[in-house]
Amino acid sequence: MSTGILYIVSAPSGAGKTSLVKALIDTVPQVRVSVSHTTRAMRPGEVDGVNYHFVAREQFVEMLEQNAFLEHAQVFDNLYGTSQHWVEQTLAQGFDLILEIDWQGAQQVRRLMPHARSVFILPPTQQALRQRLTNRGQDSDEIIDRRMRDAVSEMSHYVEYDYLVINDDFSTALEDLKAIFRANQLAQQLQQHRHESLLEMLLR
Ligand code: 5GP
Repeated sequence: MSTGILYIVSAPSGAGKTSLVKALIDTVPQVRVSVSHTTRAMRPGEVDGVNYHFVAREQFVEMLEQNAFLEHAQVFDNLYGTSQHWVEQTLAQGFDLILEIDWQGAQQVRRLMPHARSVFILPPTQQALRQRLTNRGQDSDEIIDRRMRDAVSEMSHYVEYDYLVINDDFSTALEDLKAIFRANQLAQQLQQHRHESLLEMLLR
């Protein structure tokens, strides 16, 4: 059985990453999204086990000591990590897999899994980003100011990514993401594997 393709998707908070990824998986078959563990407090509307596995810091540290994470990072004041077992299992089942993680996690995953493809989603302007963070109505002004500063620092890592998508118009950004996934599905090595008998006949 062929293994799936691993994708890293990063973006500053408020760039629309989660909505884009959700729209993508609704239309592209065979793609799964990793549910991270985090020590962050649950926001209104979030569901444990769906948006994140919300855990206490002690539990997170325990998992870290047991090498349960493929990657982990501190973002703002919270810890985030991706379950290694789940990633390996999902890829082995042939699913493509998306990790929605920050640049620190992306660096760790690239080192361990050099075939991973990475996508960075950017907002059209800084004002649009601030507006989106404010519209969410989930964070205080102080947190939004801090997230804006952190967004600029996160965005400075765009050069480390394979693809850049600008989320100005949502449907255009979604088409761009789909195009990236489609193109990777057509990679020569994967196609060779899928179309073994066709290739054999063509080259007879
Ligand atoms: P939020 O708390 O707004 O959901 O996410 C804050 C940041 O943490 C985002 O940049 C998000 O991509 C990142 N993040 C979420 N899960 C993980 C993870 O498992 N690993 C890493 N390295 N970053 C994560």
